Amino acid sequence: MATETLTPMMQQYQGVRRTLPPDTLLLFRLGDFYEMFFEDAKEAAGILNVALTRRGAVPMCGVPYHAAEGYIARLVKAGKRVAICDQVEEARPGKIVRRELTQVISPGTISDLNLLDSKKNNFLAALCRQKGRFGFAYVDTSTGEFRLAEFEGRGALEDELARVCPAELLVSDQEAEPLLGPEDGALPCDGYTFLPDQAEYTLKEHFKVQSLDGFGCAGFGPAVGAAGAILHYLKHQMRRSVEHLTRLSVYHHHTYMTVDAASQANLELVASRGARDMSLLNALDKTVTPMGGRLLRQWLLHPLREVAPLVERQEVVATLLEDISLLDGLREALRQIRDVERTVGRLSQAGGNGRDVLALRNSIEQLPALRAQLAGAGHVALAARLREEVGEFPELAQELARALVDEPPLAIKEGGIFRDGYNADLDALRNACHEGKEWIAQLQAREIEATGIKSLKVRFTSVFGYFIEITKANLASVPEHYIRKQTTVNGERFITPELKEMEGKILGANERSQALEYELFGILRERVLDHLATLQQTAAAVAALDVLVSLAETARLYGYCRPQLNEGLRLSIRDGRHPVLDQNLGEEKFVPNDVELDGGSHRLHIITGPNMAGKSTFIRQVALIVLMAQIGSYVPAASAEVGLVDRIFTRVGANDDLSRGQSTFMVEMNETANILNNATERSLVILDEIGRGTSTFDGLSIAWSVAEFLHDGPKARTLFATHYHELTELAMTRPGVCNFNVAVREWNDQIIFLRKIVEGGADKSYGIQVARLAGLPASVIARAKEILSNLEQSELNAEGRPQLAETAASAATPRRREKKGPDERPQLSLF
Ligand code: ADP
Ligand code: MG
Repeated sequence: MATETLTPMMQQYQGVRRTLPPDTLLLFRLGDFYEMFFEDAKEAAGILNVALTRRGAVPMCGVPYHAAEGYIARLVKAGKRVAICDQVEEARPGKIVRRELTQVISPGTISDLNLLDSKKNNFLAALCRQKGRFGFAYVDTSTGEFRLAEFEGRGALEDELARVCPAELLVSDQEAEPLLGPEDGALPCDGYTFLPDQAEYTLKEHFKVQSLDGFGCAGFGPAVGAAGAILHYLKHQMRRSVEHLTRLSVYHHHTYMTVDAASQANLELVASRGARDMSLLNALDKTVTPMGGRLLRQWLLHPLREVAPLVERQEVVATLLEDISLLDGLREALRQIRDVERTVGRLSQAGGNGRDVLALRNSIEQLPALRAQLAGAGHVALAARLREEVGEFPELAQELARALVDEPPLAIKEGGIFRDGYNADLDALRNACHEGKEWIAQLQAREIEATGIKSLKVRFTSVFGYFIEITKANLASVPEHYIRKQTTVNGERFITPELKEMEGKILGANERSQALEYELFGILRERVLDHLATLQQTAAAVAALDVLVSLAETARLYGYCRPQLNEGLRLSIRDGRHPVLDQNLGEEKFVPNDVELDGGSHRLHIITGPNMAGKSTFIRQVALIVLMAQIGSYVPAASAEVGLVDRIFTRVGANDDLSRGQSTFMVEMNETANILNNATERSLVILDEIGRGTSTFDGLSIAWSVAEFLHDGPKARTLFATHYHELTELAMTRPGVCNFNVAVREWNDQIIFLRKIVEGGADKSYGIQVARLAGLPASVIARAKEILSNLEQSELNAEGRPQLAETAASAATPRRREKKGPDERPQLSLF
């Protein structure tokens, strides 16, 4: 549309629009509504389910100003960036109102508590590529956490992205093609802000340092680019205060155990698929502060790979379990502490209100008690360190106690925040106001006496202020000096000069006291922010302590044991239980099971058994126990030894990923390829029903060769659950392969699940018995049995050897079939 044909209002709109990135929805204040136009209107009308209308050729939709918050929340939840343009002056006839952008809200920069999940970080991230290396940085603007790392390959980067799961992702608009794929949802930003020199300058200026080496950034290229771009975006695009970003932490992804995106989902680490939350996080989470809840989630997504820091955590848990009163005492003290991290974050972004400050006061008042409790664990290194990091703020606590009323309001411009006696000027204004109101309260009695009108009333409305109301019957008795203001149905309203003067005094004093309280609140906020860095450090220590206390509490409740950790390849679990099912089984008791992997002769276990026997549960439980051990947690077992794992790989179930347009089988093979290409001797591989997504022969063949490859190549510790009982024959040809099955008993042609893992392979699939349990008609079951017996007759070759074990070469040499006992393994040379 040419500019000259636009109304002045639309010209103003276009002016604002031009300063915003194209995919930002602009909410433009028009009277009592926020209006959206053009494409914005079409998109928002769909998301909000409001009517799309037209003004001339322009599509538009609007939401009422007073209810805007809820609508904005829905737009942001839908992943949209929302810019708010407000009227910044009173409307005057014949003149266009001045409007300005007042806020930009995006999914990654939310600070509104109602939109945030208290137990989850909300990250804004940026990606930057330089010379084939990837830089990654992310920030939680609500807490002030700011981290960066570099990655050699796209695979590791994608795994990290799955863990961090940013709400918003920035990339340079100079990238010729999408860094992650066409649908990565990343926001292209000014490429200049990602350039090494510019980014470094942005960061150095913000942190007021000469060099970034102090943060451990020496030698970092693209990650600095990403971090600089984030900071620039926050400051200039989003117009945010970034004062509370006081630290930049570099991390190296190989200090963590890798749990790729698929495994994270398969193992249901932090979220589960069903309606009920069956995630590991939910089963373990006994944290009592929001900071602790967020950190436990981070720990689960970032298990460690070194013994020392894990043993440090274990030591704290052990001490708490030895001294239950200390454990209870710490939990009680922690329970009183609010979300200090986010409160401080809000205050430093010029947000926050009296209730935030009150919450902060209540929290810091608990700190001395918390530190005193912690002294009880002072002999444990990590506990002593955390105690050091928890600050005490006696003067600040005192000042806040003196300043704030017990129940401050949400608003900060309407007064009522501060106690009487806190500030002399405020007291004087409040007194003036109070006295004026007293005077008016007595006015009614005085005037009734003076006029003799018994029904005379002094009243107040926000539109007319104070007035004297006289009913119709008494109008004749109204004194001369009353000034008539308004006629109502029942009578008339009057004022007197005296009354108006007092009203002016009251309203003036009230207005001034509100303004003063607003100013005082700003000063109080500054007093809090003087302690910004120590408050943040305290919050971080409280979070870590809360997680450790939570680990101890869970261990106590469910009878966990302390796993022995080392650098070896042994993985030995006695009476292990599935941490989630164990808590949820109810009547039926969970049957514990053992596992013994050693990277040598027990390197790959084939676990067979009918459907529903408990194979999947068992192999997941082993992975979850290892993962728990590697965050420093105790584990659901009688005893455990864990030779630390560098990665957990899982290939579990038939996962449809139709949204990515891939068939089940293709997804399965992608995940399998990833495992075969990346597993190492230190990895733990969990394979569940490989090859299910294709025909039996195809599937069995693939499963067989995958198992052979893992055994011969990476030698990773592997649990392979399968209903192809033919795979048990692998143990005859490979020295590291052992067979196990989940015991079942047949009784009157019925099947009873014992849930116990025992040595040896399952002799058959029991598929038909399970089908019977599911209620297939008897005739179908009978016919299936007939067909099965036909098929089974052709399973062995002429010499009675399993046909599947053969290779093109070995087929030529005849051999004898031999069942392997637990301790006698066939010599490889035999084949
Ligand atoms: P499979 O993979 O062999 O088909 P699952 O592992 O899915 O079997 O287990 C089926 C069901 O059996 C689970 O949902 C669970 O309720 C129950 N179950 C599995 N293992 C155990 C166990 N050790 N103790 C008690 N119940 C179990
Ligand atoms: Mg299964």
